[in-house]
Parts: sequence; C-alpha cells; structure tokens
Amino acid sequence: SHELRTPLTVMSGFLETIRELKLDPTQREHYLSLMSDQSLRMLRIVEDLLTLSSLESAPPPQDQRIMINALMARLREDAEALSAGRHKILMQAATGFDLLGSEFEIQSAFSNLVSNAVRYTPAGGEIRINWQADSTGGIFTVTDSGIGIEKTHLPRLTERFYRVDRGRSRETGGTGLGLAIVKHALMRHQSQLEIQSELGKGSRFSARFSSRR
Ligand code: ADP
Repeated sequence: SHELRTPLTVMSGFLETIRELKLDPTQREHYLSLMSDQSLRMLRIVEDLLTLSSLESAPPPQDQRIMINALMARLREDAEALSAGRHKILMQAATGFDLLGSEFEIQSAFSNLVSNAVRYTPAGGEIRINWQADSTGGIFTVTDSGIGIEKTHLPRLTERFYRVDRGRSRETGGTGLGLAIVKHALMRHQSQLEIQSELGKGSRFSARFSSRR
C-alpha cells in the first residue's frame, strides 16, 4: 500500500499547489513534470502488479513454440534502446533449440533480467545475453559487469518490493517487482532463477529449462 499511496499522495499534493497558488508558467511546468513522473511510476507499479497477479492466479496458458532467435533479437534491441550506447551488449544464441511455454511469460522474465543488467551496470560496462541449448536442455543467462549484490541480499531478491538500494531502483524506473515476476514466470515453466553475484564485480542471472521444454 505504501508503494502505491506515496506517488498518489505526492500527486494530489502537487494538484493542490497548482490550484491554490498563483504560479508563473515555469513553476507550473515544473510541477506538471513532477506529476507526470509520479503518474508514470504508478502506472509501472500497477502494470507489474497486474502481471504478477495473473502469474499467481490464472492457470498457465497453453504451451506454444517460442522462437528463441526472434526473442533474443528483440531482447537485444530493447537492451540497446535502454542502454542508449552506454554499454557493450553481446549476444550469443544456440540455433535449433526453441522453447516450449508461454511467450508472454518467458519474454517478461527474460526482459526483466536484461533491463536489470542495463540498469545496474554503470556506463562503460558489459552485458552478455546467452542462450545455450542441446538435447539435455537449455539455459538462458544474463551476465553483467555492474555493481553486483552483497551475498546477504541474494535470498530475498525475488520478494516483492525488496530492493538493495531503493534510490537507485527508483531513479532507473524500477518497481521492485521485476524479480518477483521472473521467479513466478519461471516457476510456471519448472525453472528456477539462479543468481551469482559479487559486490562491485557484476552479476549473473540464469534460468535452466528441461529437455521437455
Ligand atoms: P527493481 O525494479 O528495483 O530493479 P527487481 O525485483 O527487478 O526490482 O530487483 C530487485 C533488486 O535486486 C533491485 O532493486 C536491485 O537492488 C537488485 N538487482 C536486480 N538485478 C540486479 C543486477 N543485475 N545487478 C545488481 N543488482 C540487481
């Protein structure tokens, strides 16, 4: 409730200000832009909460063939757009092994991992997106050379709204729900999120899928 109430409270405060004070156009513009930030923040939280609730309550959709190479190409485009040239983005994908599952859920999971890698890696860093697969199964991995995570936080990262650094998460448009979405989406594909990380060195997030998928 705190996560949703805060931006709403801030917004209604600004609305009051605009209505009650005689503001010049520059001040007015300033308040409107702050309000627009808050409403975007709320929109992102609501969208993520809706995704999470459908992952927790709705039955898994029919399995479909997810074309991994097309998905990887989209992930790369999204990463490039989010990075805006600040990172080196490398991609490697095995061909001939697609994935069976829900495209929407797998794409949400993978793109959350990629966007986290970009958001938590300072400019000049490197991000690798990999899909390795053979007849024994497949593994999707995102490796970054970013800020890394202290060991004590690792077990709690997939909890809703758990963040190591609230300020940094918010500045980069985070909701604190990304990894909870990843965890649930993967669970519905009998996969678990594996996290390796070293503070100041970088992180690796991976998801392994059985040969059945
Ligand atoms: P957020 O929207 O805050 O990024 P997530 O659920 O996606 O929420 O991640 C939870 C927390 O895990 C983040 O706030 C951040 O502290 C940490 N985290 C996630 N991915 C990374 C990463 N690649 N490198 C460093 N920290 C990360």
